[in-house]
Amino acid sequence: MQSTETIISFSDLALSAPLLQAIREIGYETPSPIQAASIPPLLEGHDLVGQAQTGTGKTAAFALPILNNIDTSRREPQALVLTPTRELALQVAEAFQSYARHLPDFHILPIYGGQGMDTQLRQLRRGVHVIVGTPGRVMDHMRRHTLSLDGLTTLVLDEADEMLKMGFIDDVEWILEQSPPERQIALFSATMPEAIRKVAKHHLRNPREAKIENKTVTVEAISQRYWPVTGTNKLDALTRILEVEDFDAMLIFVRTKIATEELAEKLEARGYSAGALNGDMSQALREKNVERLKKKTLDIVVATDVAARGLDVDRISHVINYDIPYDTEAYIHRIGRTGRAGRKGHAILFVAPRERRMLLAIEKATRHRIREMRLPTREDIAERRVEQFKELVMNTLESEELSFYREFVQKLGKEKNLAPLDIASALTFLAQKERPLVPAEKSSHTEHFDDGRDARKRADRSERPERGAEKRERFTRDFDDTGVLYRIEVGRNDGVAPKDIVGAIANEAGISGKSIGHIKIYDEFCTVSLPADMPAQTLKRMERIHIMGKPINITPWSGEPPPASFSRKRTYPPKRGE
Ligand code: AMP
Repeated sequence: MQSTETIISFSDLALSAPLLQAIREIGYETPSPIQAASIPPLLEGHDLVGQAQTGTGKTAAFALPILNNIDTSRREPQALVLTPTRELALQVAEAFQSYARHLPDFHILPIYGGQGMDTQLRQLRRGVHVIVGTPGRVMDHMRRHTLSLDGLTTLVLDEADEMLKMGFIDDVEWILEQSPPERQIALFSATMPEAIRKVAKHHLRNPREAKIENKTVTVEAISQRYWPVTGTNKLDALTRILEVEDFDAMLIFVRTKIATEELAEKLEARGYSAGALNGDMSQALREKNVERLKKKTLDIVVATDVAARGLDVDRISHVINYDIPYDTEAYIHRIGRTGRAGRKGHAILFVAPRERRMLLAIEKATRHRIREMRLPTREDIAERRVEQFKELVMNTLESEELSFYREFVQKLGKEKNLAPLDIASALTFLAQKERPLVPAEKSSHTEHFDDGRDARKRADRSERPERGAEKRERFTRDFDDTGVLYRIEVGRNDGVAPKDIVGAIANEAGISGKSIGHIKIYDEFCTVSLPADMPAQTLKRMERIHIMGKPINITPWSGEPPPASFSRKRTYPPKRGE
């Protein structure tokens, strides 16, 4: 098994140039451990058993080898990925699509129950290279002979233990039996219950194994907490933590090089001295940022795992795992950047609902319970700002030469007949104008406190979605509804599922669930299609809806359609009547 110690790069993995280019653009720095262990044997055509959970990068571990070997001139399914849920099927299809951005004419089709058969049939007839689907619906198509696996070269069972739990195992076995005997099989599962081992034993030929080792270590000097990502977006949560946490220097971990820069910029915009550290930066620039951190001209460094390897700066009091690491080993490396030179260190981990399993693995590996933390409230922040201001006043009185100012205040009082208390109050207000001692109530669409920097934040938002924007140029909308698209401000980071959206809109706006069209979940927001003839009153009612404790702030989607379908505009201009 490739350990995270031995860093290999994507270019060592014998992947084709268009895939390497896509990976570069997406910003992955190095293969995750499961990728380093799975990609070479899969490229060589071996069967594989991969023990890995969500969050480890397992999707790319099978998607990249499949894409590498796909022959786009052959218009038939060459790979089939079975997933336990429709949600996962869509996510996997989206990941494939993004890795395949430079493969002309590549087509992938997600198929799952609950979606109209017609759309699927139409797309199948047009010809697709990869199918991602739930076992039941895949089986339906096979039985109707609308899907043939004769040309299949690779079959992936994703989250096999979940498929077992959901009672799909017989369907999965049936599909395996109907597929050509020569196909390659990759089985991924977070756990390996007996029934899954049996499937592997029965259907896989001499499989290679890829497993994430979870070594245990002790991390006594570090206090560890986690925040479950719900209700508030991660950037707002981080901003609040930064306000209240007593930190000297902070190291924040994210997954991609692009994210290091984006987050550092956003923190700078909020008044922190923050810089990025990633593998794309020149050695000189990286060293400069580390030096600045040591010399205290930089307080926050946003880094990828690789760039922060071996970073040894005593004043790092906090490590924030803004994006969860792929494995426990990486977590231990990360938090080991604090608590150095006999000092106490603090580690905070952001855990989205679907990453809970990784949290448990980390607790096991570090043999420590990780305490759940609550986010600082407005009151906490007010209290902190007041304390800081008092200190500032005391320090100024102690260390500055103020006789000129005393005289000035005295004169001002006399001239305008003002009490010293009134003057001091006005000056306090002015001094804290940008950062009011009591933060304003939450702004209309986030829980971020309005500290005068919200305008900038809103500007950031209008540039969003970073990941979606690029895709929007490439995709066209072709789902079967004729509704109008809206954007709502809850997303994957809040832990929202389509059923929450349907439930809230149906109940609170009084629309029937049936007329709620396609829902697409992004990290920070969702899009939902609603009837074009919806009365204004209904929309008004919708404006008051909260989902996952957040106001949804529904607005009509403006601009290009978001990436809602998985076929390319260039190749399939929507035909009349379709
Ligand atoms: P998965 O375990 O496949 O659900 O992936 C979890 C997340 O990790 C996804 O957001 C991926 O985009 C991201 N990811 C996958 N591979 C890498 C990599 N090598 N470097 C950085 N991020 C990655």
